[in-house]
Formats: sequence, structure tokens, C-alpha cells
Amino acid sequence: MSDNELVNQQFPVKVEQPGGSGNIFARVFDELTAFCRSRSLFILHYCTGCGAIELPPAMTSRFDMERLGISPMVSPRQADILLITGYVSVKTLKRVILTYEQMGSPKYVIGICSCTVNGGMYWQSYATAKKLNDYMPVDLYIAGCMPRPEAVITGLRQLMENIRRGEANGWQDYYQRYDHYLGHQQRLFGETWQTPTDVIAEAKHYGLFSNETLGEHTKLLQQHQKPLEALEMRLGLDSKDKVEP
Ligand code: SF4
Repeated sequence: MSDNELVNQQFPVKVEQPGGSGNIFARVFDELTAFCRSRSLFILHYCTGCGAIELPPAMTSRFDMERLGISPMVSPRQADILLITGYVSVKTLKRVILTYEQMGSPKYVIGICSCTVNGGMYWQSYATAKKLNDYMPVDLYIAGCMPRPEAVITGLRQLMENIRRGEANGWQDYYQRYDHYLGHQQRLFGETWQTPTDVIAEAKHYGLFSNETLGEHTKLLQQHQKPLEALEMRLGLDSKDKVEP
């Protein structure tokens, strides 16, 4: 039995949606949990493009997003919301996907700027990804070139409301339709594309494994997937060489 299967068996995780349970007490508890979750959010802003310039005013005293219960966070491991702030180059998109996969669930993605919606003014560029939601689930877009801080705050409030109502479920879609997202990633990055995250094991862990989690693209992934290499191998050192601290 693999480590992941052992963990899944010992610590199964089930995330209830508000109103998802027939038991009245459980339903009230789920709704309270969803309310609290929507009022305490940490954002990780990945400043991919020029739209990032509107975030400092949204965060600081003029618009003050902290009054909504939203604070910046430096690590994906502790962040709830990933903000993508503008056009995403192919090279950057790889890092964006790696960052997204490192975040704990439930997790949410906001695409800021028209460039994340359809490529914007870079729609003809060979170097940018055009539709962010082809590669990862996007819970909310805030369109504009560039959207003002008022629009950013309105978008955040809308996401909070969606979380409270149990309607921000893009993270579940990533597990349930992983093959779809992976197919788009492979088309852009090549068939050897892989990340260190075992998304399929996580889908089982959250009880979100579906018919569309696996497919032709995950088969390709399994053919090319390599185990994580030891530090010495990544540095190209012989096993005889010592790594000095
Ligand atoms: S939508 Fe406009 S402001 Fe935003 S990243 Fe694209 S070009 Fe920059």
C-alpha cells in the first residue's frame, strides 16, 4: 500500500457544502463553517502583469481590504485565494500552476484583468496563455484594463458571498476533471509536463475522484512521471561528492 493510500485510509477528508446535509444541526454547522470561512481569507497575489499596480491601494488605508477579513499571505501553503493579476506568459503559467497545486483545499482563484480572461491586448502573442480557466479553475474574473481598486474590492466581496453560499467550487472541479486541465497544460508545455503534486491521490483523499479525473492525459503523465530526485542528483553531483551545509 502506498503512503498516499495509507494516509487516505487513516485520515479521510470530507468537505461539506452549506445545505448539503439532511440533518438540521449538521446543516446549521455547515452554514456557520462556510460563513466563518468566507470572513477569514488569506490571499497570495501572484503579480504576473500590470494589473498588480491596483493591489496596494486595495490593501492599504484608502480601500482597506483587511476590514473584510482579507489579509495578504506570503506562502501558498497558508493561502486561501490565489490572485493572478494580469497577463500570464507560458513560462509564468508553469509557476502559477505549481503554486496553485501547493495550496491547501478549499482554495480559490481570482483572475484580475482582461488579459486573464481572453489574452487582452496580448491575444496574438505566442508567449502568453489566453484563457486562464483552460489550465486551472478560476472562481471569479475581474475584467478591465486595468480594473480599479473599487472593482477589486467588489470582486472580493462577490467571492466571499459565493464561498458563504457554497458556490465557489473550482477547486473541486480541478480534482473531478483533472484530465481536462492536464490536457490543456500538456498542449502548452509538452507531453512531458509534470508537477511534484500527486493530484490524483489528493482527489481520492478529498473524495472527489470521478470518471473524468483520469483519462488519456493522465496516462501520458504516468508514462513520463519521474520520482522526485535527491538534492545531489538535482545539483548534478556524484554520490561521492559531499554537499556542504
Ligand atoms: S488587462 Fe491591461 S492592465 Fe491588465 S495585464 Fe492586460 S494589459 Fe496590463
